Amino acid sequence: MISAQEAKKIILEYIRQSAVIEVPIEESLGQLSALDIFSPLDLPPFPQSSMDGYAFSYADLNNPEGLEIVDQIAAGDSTSIQIQPGQAVRIFTGAAVPEGADTIIMQEKTEIRDKRLFIKDRALIPGTHLRSMGSEIKKGDPALTKDSLLNPAAIGFLASMGLTKVSVYARPTLGILITGNELESPGHALPYGKVYDSNSFTFKSAFQQIGIREISILKVTDQVALLIEALHGALDKHDVVILTGGVSVGDFDFVIEATRHCGVQQVFHKIKQKPGKPFYFGVKEGKYVFGLPGNPASSLTCFYEYIEPAIQKMMGKPSSIKIARAPITAEYDKPAGLTHFLKAYFDGSRVTPLDAQESFRLKSFARANALIAIDENTTSVSVGEEVEVHILPV
Ligand code: AMP
Ligand code: MG
Repeated sequence: MISAQEAKKIILEYIRQSAVIEVPIEESLGQLSALDIFSPLDLPPFPQSSMDGYAFSYADLNNPEGLEIVDQIAAGDSTSIQIQPGQAVRIFTGAAVPEGADTIIMQEKTEIRDKRLFIKDRALIPGTHLRSMGSEIKKGDPALTKDSLLNPAAIGFLASMGLTKVSVYARPTLGILITGNELESPGHALPYGKVYDSNSFTFKSAFQQIGIREISILKVTDQVALLIEALHGALDKHDVVILTGGVSVGDFDFVIEATRHCGVQQVFHKIKQKPGKPFYFGVKEGKYVFGLPGNPASSLTCFYEYIEPAIQKMMGKPSSIKIARAPITAEYDKPAGLTHFLKAYFDGSRVTPLDAQESFRLKSFARANALIAIDENTTSVSVGEEVEVHILPV
């Protein structure tokens, strides 16, 4: 059996970045730009007023006769005007500044007498309230470098340059196979001996939280032939296949047999950890297969520890799970041999293990915002001792 650290390292060594594809910018939120992006135009595309006021030539600042107001230009007006010495135009924020003008005076700092404009701001300097053409970015200049995060501002910036598409690392598509004869879907009556399937909902949400959209979920009973058929189908259609349940060595655990039958090359099965010991990882022709134990808390722990970083790497991103060290508020003892992952609450300075740590329980996991990782060789941590904290995405 391998250690938790080895498992994580091995998975990340196998994972390759997804292909680069072009997507509409409005679908790129949270992804990374896979290429350097250069501006296709000057921005602003024309000299632009940043104020409601009057545009004029600075040489006319002290003109004793005042200036003739020859026209009015609003934002969006397409007429291009030229003014002469001694002239000004009424102008509004966002409007194109006419040729011959180089400065804008705020309307509050002017006076109109006999229809002529008098400027009452002696401290004005040339170019005030004028955004020169290309002052945000010049045509051909770098706008976003490769691997920049496409956040709302970046997406708006691309739109402001008139771009409609952006190259990103493709989001992997995902097939989830939920195994177990005992599983009933929420919304249906629960016959004796059955339990509601929660993993479908947990994993759909967990993958959605990291930006995965194409998720297909299939429930499969514990029959090897059916599982093989479902796994074949999922491998055909998806980049990543997740199976929950049936990955141990019970008489009804057919996941390992099905992966062998489908030609998936096993990388490892079982990790020295609690919960989540039976975790399986395999590969087939550039596709990745993760087998998770059925117990809801075990499988979600495995998601955060191994699958989340793997999926993020496919999309060119680091894991969103940040690692910190913090003093623990309670003593914890365990035998040597397995890494323990404890559902915990981290308040920003200290970390508290929650009650109900058993692998079938989600009640405390629902309140957790972190996992504490206690190394396989450690047998005891005392109150106030620093432990490794894995902060979960919110
Ligand atoms: P298994 O890994 O298949 O042996 O399942 C271990 C435990 O997890 C059993 O108690 C199952 O009933 C439970 N379990 C398996 N799959 C699910 C699921 N999708 N939702 C909720 N519990 C599950
Ligand atoms: Mg099962």
